[in-house]
Amino acid sequence: MRIGVDLGGTKIEGIVLDGGREVCRTRVPTPRGDYRATVAAIAALVAELERTAGGRGTVGIGMPGAISPASGLVKNANSVWLIGQPFAQDLEAALARPVRLANDANCFALSEAVDGAGAGAEVVFGVILGTGTGGGVVVRRHVLTGPNAVAGEWGHNPMPWPAEGEWPGPPCYCGRTGCIETFLSGPGLARDHADLSGERSSGPDIVARAAAGDAACLASLRRYEERLARALASVINVLDPDVIVLGGGLSSIPSLYAEVPRLWTPFVFSDTVTTRLVPPRYGDSSGVRGAAWLWEDDPHAVGLEPPQAVGRKP
Ligand SMILES: [Zn+2]
Repeated sequence: MRIGVDLGGTKIEGIVLDGGREVCRTRVPTPRGDYRATVAAIAALVAELERTAGGRGTVGIGMPGAISPASGLVKNANSVWLIGQPFAQDLEAALARPVRLANDANCFALSEAVDGAGAGAEVVFGVILGTGTGGGVVVRRHVLTGPNAVAGEWGHNPMPWPAEGEWPGPPCYCGRTGCIETFLSGPGLARDHADLSGERSSGPDIVARAAAGDAACLASLRRYEERLARALASVINVLDPDVIVLGGGLSSIPSLYAEVPRLWTPFVFSDTVTTRLVPPRYGDSSGVRGAAWLWEDDPHAVGLEPPQAVGRKP
């Protein structure tokens, strides 16, 4: 069996998968600001899942940020108490087995690629449109990490083919301006709407009011769709994925799936564009499911196997 753990800023969620079937699931609050307690909470969560499921499993963990291939330490995490810690090593010691860790957007992409909305596709690009704009690339059911652990991180590239007013663009927390994230995250949508309409409104509120016919909100949503189309066209020109799966809060906007593929066509360097843009199958569960699927290639993880059957793979 495969255990997946999704370490979030406020909660840690764990799941046991037997094949693609969910056996059990549990969650605990994240001990914010306390690194040792975070490692201990994950170990306790795994122990509880194994008691419930009655077996021992492989453990995959989805986390904010990434493990730096250069140092082996956590980088780029918004859960800042993890940064600079040997998280993988400490978890392996606490759990007495090898663990695999991946960025949470990569886990989302993997879950949707293995048995979700991108199942059967060779190359899947998964996108999180929420408080940020994460992304992950899955090729033949394997997460592409890259030597810098930044594969799929499209959110801090500049908005391509900028229209007037988009460049140099709004400041981003990464230190640059005009990043894709400053336009396509929920806060980015809210800022753009405030700049043009003078109204302060949250991303979800703008979407709800657009659906009810509010003209200013509809205009903001149209700008959002057009920008998302340009930003994804630049991904298609580099990666040419079979499927792009959207996740995060803004992926629930129904118009994106019809409008964005129509709008991205002129920006894609091809006579025809057959790339599919689809909503997620598992939604919020994709983080934890994808973490479990980090051991997708392990033949011993199929069924309830004894602990000695679980070995580290390169
Ligand atoms: Zn940025």
